[in-house]
Amino acid sequence: MTGPVYERVALIGLGLIASSIYWAIKRHPGLAGEVTGYARSQETRDTAKRIGLCDRVCDTAVEAVQDADLVILCVPVGVMGQVTEEISEHLKPGCTVSDVGSVKRDVISNVLPHLPENVAFVPAHPLAGTEHSGPESGFAELFDNRWCLLVPVEGTAPETVAKLRHFWEGLGANVEEMDADHHDLVLAVTSHTPHLIAYTMVGVADDLRRVTDSEVVKYSAAGFRDFTRIAASDPTMWRDVFLTNRDATLEILGRFTEELFALQRAIRKGDGDHLHAYFTRTRAIRRGIIDAGQDTDAPDFGRGQKARK
Ligand code: NAP
Repeated sequence: MTGPVYERVALIGLGLIASSIYWAIKRHPGLAGEVTGYARSQETRDTAKRIGLCDRVCDTAVEAVQDADLVILCVPVGVMGQVTEEISEHLKPGCTVSDVGSVKRDVISNVLPHLPENVAFVPAHPLAGTEHSGPESGFAELFDNRWCLLVPVEGTAPETVAKLRHFWEGLGANVEEMDADHHDLVLAVTSHTPHLIAYTMVGVADDLRRVTDSEVVKYSAAGFRDFTRIAASDPTMWRDVFLTNRDATLEILGRFTEELFALQRAIRKGDGDHLHAYFTRTRAIRRGIIDAGQDTDAPDFGRGQKARK
């Protein structure tokens, strides 16, 4: 019988993504032998122990990475470099370090310089999440049929990347490789800018003192209510995303503003043809997402059950 994909896995940071990784590993015992975990606060470590998150919860990151064959950095993007510096001298020679950060170019430039030469770095980003955070928010199905993008750095052995791919496929994800800059641009379009728009829309409604108005909430259905759900996402994580994916986000925001002005003009001029053509095109995009199995047609976007976990 062959052993697990990685004998020992260390999760640094024990929030939504790390806890989901752990529960997904437990669903598929062939992926890891022992899983250690570390988070910066005693409170999170105590919670992890209480709910059985990780086989062993450690008091320091250094202890958690001892003898680990795979170390996954599951902390906010802004502290990836600092955490790597803390553990770098204690990494097992030949091990793989990976991460789950939502931005890739910045993480690579902050993590790579701290790593010894005998350690491989294979950045990763699972395109799955909810607006919840913390050790109790994870669930084993989070990555099922979602994409996980691997962003290997130059010179990484193909078998090292293949092993991590195998691991993520075992967690339920579909895996693809992508270049770091392309990743950051794609994510600026599909995730980062939409989040910023949701934050803005909720902020505007609040400025108008309408957001807590019971009628607004009661009749908002999936439109505004979905914005408020997205705008409830973790402030630290999203601050770091915008600070570290600045160029791509600003580029997409520029394009967005132009389109918004065009729609504004069409409304002012009563140009129904423009509006109809535009909305027909966007409806087809939505259809494509459903056909690709990346969302459901359910009125609550299929998130209801998981998001409330
Ligand atoms: P989370 O639930 O807020 O958890 C973050 C964890 O990092 C917490 O356990 C926190 O510890 C720990 N942490 C923060 N600073 C630390 C430090 N300096 N040293 C050690 N631990 C530290 O966050 P998450 O949603 O899992 O996100 C983690 C990463 O995944 C981020 O890089 C994010 O960009 C990425 N990501 C998130 C999503 C999403 O939708 N949430 C999706 C894909 C990727 P304490 O609890 O002790 O503060």
